[in-house]
Amino acid sequence: MTVRVRFAPSPTGPLHIGGARSALFNWLYARHHGGQFIVRIEDTDLERSSRESEENILNSLKWLGLDWDEGIEVGGPNGPYRQTERLAKYRELADTLVQTGHAYHCYCSEEELAAEREALKEKGELPRYLGRCRNLCQEDKEKLEAEGRNPVLRFKVPENEIITINDDVRGQVEFESDGIGDFVIMKSGGIPTYNFAVVVDDHDMDITHVLRAEEHLSNTPRQILIYNALDWDVPIFAHVSLILGKDRSKMSKRHGATSIEQYKSMGYLPEALVNFLALLGWSPGGEEEVLPLEEIKDLFTLDKVSKSPAVFDLEKLNHLNGMYIRNSELDYITKLALPFMQKAGYISESPTPEDLEMAKQIVDATKKYVNNMSEIVEHMEIFFTDEMKLENEKAREALQIEEVPQVMHAMKEKIFSSSKLTEEIVKGMLKELTKELGFGGKKVYMPLRVALTGQTHGPELYQIIPILGTNRTIDRLNAVLEGKLS
Ligand code: GLU
Repeated sequence: MTVRVRFAPSPTGPLHIGGARSALFNWLYARHHGGQFIVRIEDTDLERSSRESEENILNSLKWLGLDWDEGIEVGGPNGPYRQTERLAKYRELADTLVQTGHAYHCYCSEEELAAEREALKEKGELPRYLGRCRNLCQEDKEKLEAEGRNPVLRFKVPENEIITINDDVRGQVEFESDGIGDFVIMKSGGIPTYNFAVVVDDHDMDITHVLRAEEHLSNTPRQILIYNALDWDVPIFAHVSLILGKDRSKMSKRHGATSIEQYKSMGYLPEALVNFLALLGWSPGGEEEVLPLEEIKDLFTLDKVSKSPAVFDLEKLNHLNGMYIRNSELDYITKLALPFMQKAGYISESPTPEDLEMAKQIVDATKKYVNNMSEIVEHMEIFFTDEMKLENEKAREALQIEEVPQVMHAMKEKIFSSSKLTEEIVKGMLKELTKELGFGGKKVYMPLRVALTGQTHGPELYQIIPILGTNRTIDRLNAVLEGKLS
């Protein structure tokens, strides 16, 4: 059997962490088993769905590096892949369900339904639809229609049955049919509800495994009833646990950024985010947490997916992202950092090759201090400011030792005598300088560092000097000699 899984987002907002995790798990499952991954759009909530959200979701999937074999945009033999373009199918199958006695028209008004729910609640019973319209005769229907009522279609839930889900993550889960109540499958206007359309689509698209978030678990018995009524095979279900914030409440905006787009715009690397998402509820068993997607794909099995909720730990994401930044090609992370540098005004909107080279040098010099690319700009001021300031008392003291003028002069000479300033050249210069001065590295490096940045910590001197270039470096050394830096 070829594994066929799907991601079926409702385009009612941007792609969130939870949705992305579902998409990723499906992608991993398909790729691990050499199966197919399908993406379709569940847009039957006409009021809340938009093409803008759909585009956001698809772009976020692509940005994360998740591709699909069939579905929206790419096409395939089971299309269309947008539910609003499949209405004829749902309507036809709804008619079948009516004909076979599994569904019926319901004319109850919102007020009547609300009153029924209230009455049940008062009695301490589960609020559900009790089937008032189950046995209407043709005459009753005509009368109600004449009152201007538009019917919906309800599924007739069998009484007194146990519906069992053999969940690949949660094990056996049972539901009593009596707690469900006849539920709507077609809204008035001929639009299917999620529970109906999802079954039709999963069947039509030959989906073998439904991997989705735990919040859908309570929908699954309804869906199983529809499969049974249509005499269709039920796919294998696997419900993945919720994602909680660090305070153990359900992940929401309160816990920070929730959409993939937001992480992208903060300068997170898709490789790191995807690695992090995979670890939300799945664990390879070992200690290793930096795992490229290719490796995760090889290791991904459902028995390693946890039943307990996953906790979204931003510090862990930052840590992972920092590791990915430091392990990535410099050209690649510079490309990601560039828009932030441009927005902050440090690099021109139409950069010259020299600007780009400088951007690259800055990224290389500062990457060890950042957890995402937007933070790069926080470390850039030292390279551009004309108003150098001493950061603290320790910096002030570093410029008070008696060797300082000698160091500044000697360094100036070295800089002047070199036509180019590359890392290698500056490294050589500093080595020579220390040897020639003969009073130990610390008395050379610390005053130079403070002279050039105002700080006692930071990027390597041999990285700072090529970025500053000859003129800026000389100006800063002069400022110390002239007592202007304080
Ligand atoms: N459209 C549903 C959602 O976005 C999909 C649920 C499912 O995978 O069945 O939550």
